[in-house]
Amino acid sequence: MKIVYIDMDDTLCNFKNSYKQSLIDRPEITWPHSQCGFFVHLEPLPQALETVNLLIESNKYDPYILTSPSVRNPNSYIEKRIWIEQYFGLNFCKKLIISPNKALNIGDYLIDDNVQGKGQENFQGELIHFGSKAFPNWESIARYLEI
Ligand SMILES: [Mg+2]
Repeated sequence: MKIVYIDMDDTLCNFKNSYKQSLIDRPEITWPHSQCGFFVHLEPLPQALETVNLLIESNKYDPYILTSPSVRNPNSYIEKRIWIEQYFGLNFCKKLIISPNKALNIGDYLIDDNVQGKGQENFQGELIHFGSKAFPNWESIARYLEI
């Protein structure tokens, strides 16, 4: 089976929207993602849950979540874990990897909205750049991976 790593912020869940909304609602907080509860309340992006569920059920792929922590917010580690359970169930929490350097993980694909900064630039497999022209949404990724 091919190993697929999936980023969370702005790939699975809508970090940017919550960030912007927080700056409007609570302008005194300059680091919105430092707030307790920030990560657990992020909204899933369209078709993200459906596509990851197809990967989970597929016999072609072995998906993992590979996300970097928000180091200034210790709750982010716990909230990311709660988020995964909330949307994919307890069993898939075993596939959650929180790492500051994504290049340390060996695998076939990394689906990520960033191409650098957290080791994406040194990932040994193929980087599927979520939000790019080639992969603007989850539907295009599902088509590419033929799931
Ligand atoms: Mg991201």
